[in-house]
Amino acid sequence: MQIISFVLLIILFISLFSTAITAQDGLKIANDITQLNPISVAEIIHPISTEEIIKAVKTHNSISIGGGLYSMGGQTATEKALQIDMRNFNRILNFSEANKEITVETGINWRKIQEFIDSYNLSIKIMQSYANFTVGGSLSVNVHGRYIGEGPIILSVKQIKIVLANGNLIVASPIKNKEIFYAAIGGYGGIGVITEATLSLTENTKIERTSQVLSIKKYKQFFLDNIQNDSKIIFHNAVIYPDQYEQIRAISYSKTPKKTTVNYRLKPKGQKYIFRKFVLGIISEFSVGKWFRQYLIDPIIYKSKPIEWRNYEASQDVFELEPESRKQSTYVLQEYFVPVDQFDNFYPLMANILKKYKVNVINVSIRHAKKDSGSLLAWASTEVFAFVIYYKQGVKQADKEKVKKWTQKLIDASLLCNGRYYLPYQIHANQYQFEKAYIHSDDFFRLKKKLDPTNKFRNKLWDNYYKL
Ligand SMILES: Cc1cc2nc3c(=O)[nH]c(=O)nc-3n(C[C@H](O)[C@H](O)[C@H](O)COP(=O)(O)OP(=O)(O)OC[C@H]3O[C@@H](n4cnc5c(N)ncnc54)[C@H](O)[C@@H]3O)c2cc1C
Repeated sequence: MQIISFVLLIILFISLFSTAITAQDGLKIANDITQLNPISVAEIIHPISTEEIIKAVKTHNSISIGGGLYSMGGQTATEKALQIDMRNFNRILNFSEANKEITVETGINWRKIQEFIDSYNLSIKIMQSYANFTVGGSLSVNVHGRYIGEGPIILSVKQIKIVLANGNLIVASPIKNKEIFYAAIGGYGGIGVITEATLSLTENTKIERTSQVLSIKKYKQFFLDNIQNDSKIIFHNAVIYPDQYEQIRAISYSKTPKKTTVNYRLKPKGQKYIFRKFVLGIISEFSVGKWFRQYLIDPIIYKSKPIEWRNYEASQDVFELEPESRKQSTYVLQEYFVPVDQFDNFYPLMANILKKYKVNVINVSIRHAKKDSGSLLAWASTEVFAFVIYYKQGVKQADKEKVKKWTQKLIDASLLCNGRYYLPYQIHANQYQFEKAYIHSDDFFRLKKKLDPTNKFRNKLWDNYYKL
């Protein structure tokens, strides 16, 4: 009995903690954080030099690129392709304290950059709200964070180097090879392998957290009057409380000269996040859990006004969200963007859909982003509010079908409000929805065809929407 339990434990361990295991036919199974998208790839390599990447591109016909593998719909793999796992290609190549800029190999993650620049009291200008992601994955998704006065990461990119399908390594920036720059950033690995990036940095500052609860009906005006033009605010987001979607908690982190109350400059590594995971479990497992969070837990947490470093807040670890198991159910993200003046039109549509389909929503976070500088697959072609939905779903086919149904409804709702949905998540949008949301996708595909005529750079996203 003990032996059987031990073997079961080992099997569970392997399936939970490996993103790539060998399949019976010699192919390898690549997967992502949700564990919803196992894909048999031909081979996975972990290059440590540009030469190795060029050689792989020249000698393979079908290639996918993997960064941190946190995208959630097979954007990093496709059947029988080579997967280039970039995570060992992670050195800092150049740094100028005076110019506040850094050049890195793109398999590096934000945390490693933070550990280096923190001693110069500098911060990454634009990144996501967690530090586990790679620079290459972030550029290829054209990510955003919770920053006020910022927008998509493209606004902080000075230049990139990219290996094209013919094996040529070229420099691209808003001035040089700009067509390629604006296609590769936000291009989900469809144009080439981005190998180096030069990024703007900014000052690391002390910040104080404050928050207030208000009706969602008042949020847009509250944001325009109090948040948008306050140059002291570094981070801001607002939590819409499920299942009613009527109250929000607006949370801001503003520059302060006060003494820090948090002693660390970066989040300590290797934390277990027991309380956080316990709360997540309660919210997602019990209907009363959502009430419990809104009326008991959050009021206690947000009573305090911690003063911390910007780098501390920016170095969060996604492990704090990781459930014990993703075997029966898994946590997934979705995101919708609408122009600022469409806020009041979109949220009631969103709330009705989530209620109607009884979606087990854990959190909806509102963010704000400035207009994109011109990427072909921009999700912010104007100033937008983002609605980030974090929810739990089952892993069976029936669960996936159900999610597809309400996801398509949400996409329709965002399109109705001249908005977009975000591409790094599960691929539920139909061709019409994709083309309507990404109005310059035809230009992107034309350039892809010119640079990559044999469709070498593939993954599930482009297999779905790119028609040769
Ligand atoms: C818990 C969690 C929180 C998140 N928070 C945010 C957030 O705050 N803001 C936000 O915008 N997104 C967020 N995301 C979404 C998103 O998945 C990530 O922003 C991004 O994809 C993560 O980077 P990665 O290194 O994991 O990329 P991956 O998932 O590995 O790759 C993403 C895409 O980039 C391509 N790619 C990777 N490296 C390269 C390269 N060197 N050259 C060319 N193409 C490449 C891949 O082929 C793929 O298509 C979040 C996701 C999770 C799971």
